[in-house]
Parts: sequence; structure tokens; C-alpha cells
Amino acid sequence: MDTQIIERIKKDLLERRDQITAELFKFSKSGQIKGEFVSDFPSFGDQADENAQEVDQYTTDIETERVLESTLKDINSSLNAIKKGTYGICKYCHQEIEEKRLLIRPFSSSCVKCKNKLQSA
Ligand SMILES: [Zn+2]
Repeated sequence: MDTQIIERIKKDLLERRDQITAELFKFSKSGQIKGEFVSDFPSFGDQADENAQEVDQYTTDIETERVLESTLKDINSSLNAIKKGTYGICKYCHQEIEEKRLLIRPFSSSCVKCKNKLQSA
């Protein structure tokens, strides 16, 4: 793959990593980055319906946090792959991942063909 494109993707990945790290910080007031983020339970009040709202909010936070953490993991492994010179190789078929796909979703670890196969399976 073109080194210029790799550089562009690397910059994109670093920016995304910063954004996601900042997002994750919002969930955790203790602000520890150890891979495990503990959501603070939001408090809206003690009324019954307010408690229901708290639980709702908490569930959404956990879900968002889970997605953010997994994306962060993908971004980090992509950055590692760039360092090792193995970036852009599909982890299933070991062929090069389409450049177009990587520009849209730079932390992809599989090609479109394998991804489709997995989703339809
Ligand atoms: Zn593949």
C-alpha cells in the first residue's frame, strides 16, 4: 500500500483514538485508562420514575462504553499493525483489504468479502 495513504490513515486513527479516549473519560470520573472503564451510576433523584430513568441511562452508557472500548481496541491493533508493516491485511484470508474500505473505516481488520461471509453465516 502507498506510504502516503498509510500516513493519512495513521493520522486518522490517532485522531479517532483521541476522540474515543475523551469520550470514555466522560463515562469514568475516576479517569483511569487501564482498558477497564467503570461507568459512574448517574443520579437523577430518588423518585420511582426517576430511578427508572437512571437505569435506562445506565444501560445506554454501558452499551456505548462497550462499543467505544472495542473500537479503541481495533484502533490500537491497527496502529500496531502499521508499526509492524502488516497493516491492511485481512485477518481471515490474509489478502490485502480494499483501500476504499480502509479509508472509510481505517480500523477494519477484515476485507469486505470475509466480513460479508461472516455476517451471512
Ligand atoms: Zn478476507
